[in-house]
Amino acid sequence: MVTAPPSVVLGDVEITRVQEYAGPSPATPAFMFPDSDPGYWDDRLDPDFYDAESRTLRSVLHTWLIRSQGMVILLDTGAGNGKERPYAPVYAHHDTAYLDNLQAAGVRPEDVDIVVNTHLHVDHVGWNTRLEGREWVPTFPNARYLIPEPDFLFWDPIRTPRPPGDGNQNVFEDSVLPVHRAGLADLWNGEHRVNSELVLREAPGHTPGSAVLRLDSKGAGALFVGDILHSPVQIAFPAVNSCFCEDPAMARATRRRLLAEAADRDLLVFPGHFGGHSACRVDHHGTDAFVIRDWADFARI
Ligand SMILES: [Zn+2]
Repeated sequence: MVTAPPSVVLGDVEITRVQEYAGPSPATPAFMFPDSDPGYWDDRLDPDFYDAESRTLRSVLHTWLIRSQGMVILLDTGAGNGKERPYAPVYAHHDTAYLDNLQAAGVRPEDVDIVVNTHLHVDHVGWNTRLEGREWVPTFPNARYLIPEPDFLFWDPIRTPRPPGDGNQNVFEDSVLPVHRAGLADLWNGEHRVNSELVLREAPGHTPGSAVLRLDSKGAGALFVGDILHSPVQIAFPAVNSCFCEDPAMARATRRRLLAEAADRDLLVFPGHFGGHSACRVDHHGTDAFVIRDWADFARI
């Protein structure tokens, strides 16, 4: 049964978590966070993020649905259904109820005004497109798709050849090019204002074009950080990168800068893949660490 997804309100903006997948993952902490101290995971045993029995991480894929000034905005579009992912099998051949979950939040595909891809990894662009016959076509036909230009150039395999066995194989071709060819993509650089409440800013490191979305509405603020944060371990230890961070030094610097901004300005932080309550506020903890102050009101997943 599909039930209406949970929402929080910040100022005049409503944010809804639309789930694609939440459950087991084959990834271990040693694979996903090679910089992290194994003791961290054994000590923490947080069931929202780590399965102590299998010693693997939990996986969560969702879209942040943002309603602001009459606009329907989707931030990141998960893995998508029916995609061929020869070197990322966990994202291959999905058959999820994502569009039903979106409908339960009151949104049909044709209602979407803006799609934001924080970056062009396999698990952030999947529902950009859906299969119609043998063609990948834009899922959201009336939307503008906001795509960071540095990622558009970096992930185009013609411009920037990828190594054999790359997990992002086919992603550009089946989930990015079709919206570009349909004339629906707006490539942006540096900063891109969506409206007076929302602005996209570059936050490179995880990928060359990784972006964050800053929300300000009637004194309430939020920061949608994509995969700058994959796990709470990176709040406690901002130097810990995921294995998918393309530029390790820049990813660390960007993470520290954004966590400091969130702590200093009391921003609700919305990462791309947090389970549990999925969004949190943070405080400084010493000179180079942060702690979670409180969680958002989303039900635990
Ligand atoms: Zn991701």
